[in-house]
Amino acid sequence: MNPIADKIAKLKARIEWGREMGFYFYLQPVKDIDGARILARGREMLLFASYSYLGLIGHPKIDAAAKAAIDGYGTGTHGVRILAGSLALHRELEEKIASFTGAEDSIVFSSGYVTNLATVSTLVGRGDVVISDKLNHASIVDGCILSRAHFVRCKHNDMADLDRCLSEAAPGAGKLVVADAVFSMDGDIIDLPEMRRLCTKHGALLMVDEAHSLGVLGKTGHGIEEHFGMPGAIDIKMGTLSKTIPSVGGYIAADRDTVMYLKHSARAFVFSAALPPAQVAAAKASLEVIEEEPWRIEKLRRNVRLFIDGLKARGFDTLQSETAIVPIICGKDERTLMMTKLAQERGLFVLPVLSPAVPPGTSRIRAAVTAAHTEEDIDQALDILEQAGRMVRVIRRKPKGAAAASCVPHRTIA
Ligand code: PMP
Repeated sequence: MNPIADKIAKLKARIEWGREMGFYFYLQPVKDIDGARILARGREMLLFASYSYLGLIGHPKIDAAAKAAIDGYGTGTHGVRILAGSLALHRELEEKIASFTGAEDSIVFSSGYVTNLATVSTLVGRGDVVISDKLNHASIVDGCILSRAHFVRCKHNDMADLDRCLSEAAPGAGKLVVADAVFSMDGDIIDLPEMRRLCTKHGALLMVDEAHSLGVLGKTGHGIEEHFGMPGAIDIKMGTLSKTIPSVGGYIAADRDTVMYLKHSARAFVFSAALPPAQVAAAKASLEVIEEEPWRIEKLRRNVRLFIDGLKARGFDTLQSETAIVPIICGKDERTLMMTKLAQERGLFVLPVLSPAVPPGTSRIRAAVTAAHTEEDIDQALDILEQAGRMVRVIRRKPKGAAAASCVPHRTIA
């Protein structure tokens, strides 16, 4: 068989098997997506798989801004930003992003994925070195490959290994270090202070992806620099406009010259259409709402603690997560699929992450908690996960008479 057709047929067979077994959970159309509940498969479900960390989807101020932008500008632009596609709104958003992130300037791209791809591949090239954390998002990895720079993957959040990788870079090479601020599969936080120190020591530029930290980390949700009390520590701050911010797009916030360079050299900016007005206006209004409604960040922080503590008390392994992304380790793929199925049957919308997306034996449900959840929602989710976890033996009861939590981890059988 033609190898391309063969590849397609193999995936088709795998998906058909998943559908027959009731194990195919992807691409489910959902309705009524504001808040903590959705309609999926014709029934209301509790949503613990949302990136809308501050619960901003459907916020009246944000929706009104998007509608006003359509009234003022229509639904499209006149092409790429560098020609006739730049609206006053684009510039207002870039100025807002710059002030929100404490940078001199910013540039917006059509998605977060494209932002990483374009930025890494524009900043480094042949003869340079790009060092990327092993667990970085695919868009960073793809940017590193596309750049044709020497691509080094260092051990996850391991600063001694980063030091080694930087020491081994060819003398005179341009050096770029890239990492997620909060890792999208594990929910842990990068060691920014040490990373900054090492980049300064070795003369490297530091780029950090704030997809899962904007609105989540820091007392007022301004991200990882605020979390560590290190304003200005990151040379190139990347973020998406599709998670905490209920829009679409991505940005780079950096010094004026770097932003100017990207605006004239990044192919995904120069050769691709501008973001539509409604999405731009929504993104700008969202940044204002984050600053006007700090209670959302406090509520998210409380919910994260309640959820992680509740899972741990029931005996689940949640790795090192201390953020809104909470991995619930199940072990083998089959056990993860079964647990997802049981949870969804009980009305909890969570999704599985299987190998090779994560290392074999660490397949997981990746849950996400948001500010839209109430304490009752969290209790209900914990109850469902406990029932499902016991049924598939991800956790088991503690022997009678044992104190503390009612369950203990049961990973050895995974
Ligand atoms: N970076 C990280 C860390 C992400 O998790 C994602 C999306 N999952 C992206 C970049 C891409 O962002 P977008 O979905 O806005 O394209």
